[in-house]
Amino acid sequence: MPNTLIRRVRLVPVAGVPAPDDLVDLRIAAGLVREVAPDLKPGANESVTDADGRWAIPGLWDHHVHMGQWAATLSRIDMSGTAGPDEVLARLRIHLPTLSAEDRTSVVVGFGHRSATWARQPTVAELDEASGTHPVVLVSGDAHNGWLNSAALALLEAPTTSGALSENDWFPILARLDTLPGAQESAAAAYSAAVAKASALGIVGVGDMEFGSGYLDWPARFAAGIKDLRVRAATYREGLDDIVAAGLRTGDELGESGGLLQMGPLKIISDGSLNTRTAYCHEPYVDGASLAHPRGKPNLSSDELIELCGRATAHGLTMAVHAIGDAAVAQTLDAFEQTGAAGGIEHAQLVDPTDLARMAKLRVSASVQPAHLLDDRDVTMTCWPDRADRCFPLRSMIDAGVVLRMGSDAPVSPLDPWLAMAAAVYRSGDDRPPWTLEQAITPDEALAASTDGQTTLAVGSRADIVLLDRDPLAPMSTAAKAADRLRSTRVEATFLAGRETFS
Ligand SMILES: [Zn+2]
Repeated sequence: MPNTLIRRVRLVPVAGVPAPDDLVDLRIAAGLVREVAPDLKPGANESVTDADGRWAIPGLWDHHVHMGQWAATLSRIDMSGTAGPDEVLARLRIHLPTLSAEDRTSVVVGFGHRSATWARQPTVAELDEASGTHPVVLVSGDAHNGWLNSAALALLEAPTTSGALSENDWFPILARLDTLPGAQESAAAAYSAAVAKASALGIVGVGDMEFGSGYLDWPARFAAGIKDLRVRAATYREGLDDIVAAGLRTGDELGESGGLLQMGPLKIISDGSLNTRTAYCHEPYVDGASLAHPRGKPNLSSDELIELCGRATAHGLTMAVHAIGDAAVAQTLDAFEQTGAAGGIEHAQLVDPTDLARMAKLRVSASVQPAHLLDDRDVTMTCWPDRADRCFPLRSMIDAGVVLRMGSDAPVSPLDPWLAMAAAVYRSGDDRPPWTLEQAITPDEALAASTDGQTTLAVGSRADIVLLDRDPLAPMSTAAKAADRLRSTRVEATFLAGRETFS
């Protein structure tokens, strides 16, 4: 690990820990900040970077990413913003003739449509008509649903269907996409590009919630040269026996990565999603009269959830439980309470106020994705208008003492911590007034939820350092301006364990 002296930085105070007023130098060795003072003398074998008065924050984290899908998304047909099946098919018809001969041998993947607000649901027949015999897989924007043509259904050995696949019919198909011929080579290039893009935004670490065997795949990627990121690789229940057999506990180093790669939590998907109206709620969906399950439904029984939490805890694994509806959050907290499991709830999009205190008491963190509120605002006002005041309840969470960890759930929203922080501070992504602004948090709080618990850079901090062109937390007259400032802050350099990963 390089020894580095970063000269003349202004430290941004993070999580209320005061910073010196004057410019300081940061001496870095063995991956940690060793000295913080003005005018340090460069040592022998120390590389020197002059920050020239730039602002320094701890490296940013995205606590919930699907790295493989995000990497792949960067090379997929963008179907976001489509108003119905016809618009998706029109984009596909434009894209298909542009494929090279080589591309024609692989599956065409589109991503990002949101069918929940469409006037009608898509059919396999219409996709066949637009695509012919070329296998096409269209992954919905929340990744909980896939629209495949007949060629892709056959290739991926999917269940027979006349429409889109969702939830448990769909997840195995999504995982199988990565095992197709040619997928490996293009995946490696896509991962490199995705990591470089993340470093350019000041990201130094992610919680990777990808399906499959991340605990084996990340060390292999690292050995192949993809080294610019800390990764905590989650496992799903399908992989739990292998993880236990390998004796891996949460926090254990994976491979020879200098501590950058770690075993993550056990990820469980306890309910569905808002867009598919499968998130599990205490009250029926307002527009859910025709649903088979008017309150949504849990993917696991309480007993199953308790069994999994208990087994993970016994083997040293923390939990990351996807729970979007308030009933799913309650069911998950029950399981944490009964088993003494540690970890967090992913999404916690709709929460009963009484459960916030319980969450804080159990020290269950909330892994939230504020940029989703920009996308989910309209559908929430259709299906949960009566409970909108406790959707994405970031303010209430912090006030109750719940630890927030922010992320993107990329590819559901882009892997961009600045977008997430801005959405948390000012809950509007367009010209409309903010949505339930009383649940907004401050820029300081948003930054503190994005640094994996690292506070103001000091002696002993991880040498994960981001240099910025401005103070992202400078006081502004309105929340809108504070959010604008976050969005327009430019990352000028990123250091990971003292090594420059972007400049
Ligand atoms: Zn996710």
